[in-house]
Amino acid sequence: MSTRTVDEAGGGTARDADDVQAALLRQLTERAAHDPVAGLLLARLQAQGDHLEPDPVDVLERRFEAALRANQQLREALVAANEMTAWVARLLGACPQCWGLVDACPRCRGRGGPGHRRPAVDELVDWLAPALRRVGLALVPQPGSHRTLRPLDSPDTTTPTKQEMP
Ligand SMILES: [Zn+2]
Repeated sequence: MSTRTVDEAGGGTARDADDVQAALLRQLTERAAHDPVAGLLLARLQAQGDHLEPDPVDVLERRFEAALRANQQLREALVAANEMTAWVARLLGACPQCWGLVDACPRCRGRGGPGHRRPAVDELVDWLAPALRRVGLALVPQPGSHRTLRPLDSPDTTTPTKQEMP
């Protein structure tokens, strides 16, 4: 069915389009021997031959450059993810490679969970307090501890009631 062929060509990739154009050229070449209109159309299409049959080296170069760009974007995303996990590990005092979640971790053998090292307490509290406040929890120093927690000193630490929770 001809509409199906059109749909496939319209929804396909650039490579599909190249295949369709090549097939069209073959058909026109066969018909041009006995069909003057096909001959004219073939001559017109062959005049645009550079467009119809791109230089394979150019195609490979474009694909290679696209792959390099994709690779660079993935590297940047990986660097950003590593920086974020290292930041969280530092705040928690956890293993920067696995947060203590991997028994086979070469750095901590799975013993590097939160508190394995001294956490960055002030940054940790600053980061967590809003989430805890949202569910009606607050961080308080243990009895006998001389530590003060900055959010507790601020006026924004009132514990919301259940009715205020969304
Ligand atoms: Zn680890």
